[in-house]
Amino acid sequence: MRIDLHTHSTASDGTDSPAELTAAAAAAGLDVVAITDHDTTAGWEAAVAALPAGLTLVRGAELSGRWYGTEPTMGLHLLAYLFDPAYEPLVAELARVRLSRERRAEKTVELLNADGIDVTVPEVRGYAAGGTIGRPHLARALVRRRLVGNVDEAFRPEWLGRRYRLPKDDIDVFTAIRLVREAGGVSVLAHPKAEIRGHALPDALIADLAGAGLWGVEADHTDHTEADRARVRALAGDLGLRVTGSSDYHGTNKTVRLGAFTTDPPVYREMADAATGVAPVIGA
Ligand code: AMP
Ligand code: ZN
Ligand code: FE
Ligand code: FE
Repeated sequence: MRIDLHTHSTASDGTDSPAELTAAAAAAGLDVVAITDHDTTAGWEAAVAALPAGLTLVRGAELSGRWYGTEPTMGLHLLAYLFDPAYEPLVAELARVRLSRERRAEKTVELLNADGIDVTVPEVRGYAAGGTIGRPHLARALVRRRLVGNVDEAFRPEWLGRRYRLPKDDIDVFTAIRLVREAGGVSVLAHPKAEIRGHALPDALIADLAGAGLWGVEADHTDHTEADRARVRALAGDLGLRVTGSSDYHGTNKTVRLGAFTTDPPVYREMADAATGVAPVIGA
């Protein structure tokens, strides 16, 4: 069984439509794939409708979270799986974050314009194509002007990594974990020790999150070094958290391939048993 629990479609900043994503997952030899777009469940329906025979779809999302218990506050990503997409308090938080992403994109365009870079909001919105707008869409505008060679380069400090990086209103991570639980889902902390991205989370925070109902942590991820992965595994063992691995596939917005990292079948089965929001869907 090959299980990839973290992928993005055009419902956020991936480049495969939900239908293309499920087809690509089957072609990559996956048995289980999760769709985890940023702050939205908009891709779920199309993914279910297009599900190839024999492929199991786990419906999820990657929530933009923030830890407010430190100065400066720290952004983080929380994978949420198999939750009820109609649970109003969670729906409201996701809508609020998406709106904040819109405002951030507009302000970032203003900042670029002030430096003589003539990107426009409609162009950036066009790249998002109705999905959750994110920095990879701003990156595409910079690539188009040949200011950078590719999306990855656009995340360097002199571009969207720092110079043109603006904050958005994320969800308090403790609130996020509570809402996901109330919606019948389980939450997994995405790439928690990505030292190279400069946002490794302290062990003490992860312990507090475990106490607040966090279900698992992602260890095998392209942003983690071997040492990062070992630390996550050891910590998960200490805290009684499950360990996942996944590609964080974004189509051509990133170089990583579907199934590059995978999750052990017993962990997936435990997840499917634990969640009560929605069930995994098996392609007929
Ligand atoms: P946002 O959530 O809009 O702030 O954008 C963060 C997203 O940008 C992440 O989920 C990744 O998909 C993408 N990203 C971050 N760093 C890089 C990078 N170095 N190269 C390509 N994509 C990146
Ligand atoms: Zn992304
Ligand atoms: Fe992430
Ligand atoms: Fe992701």
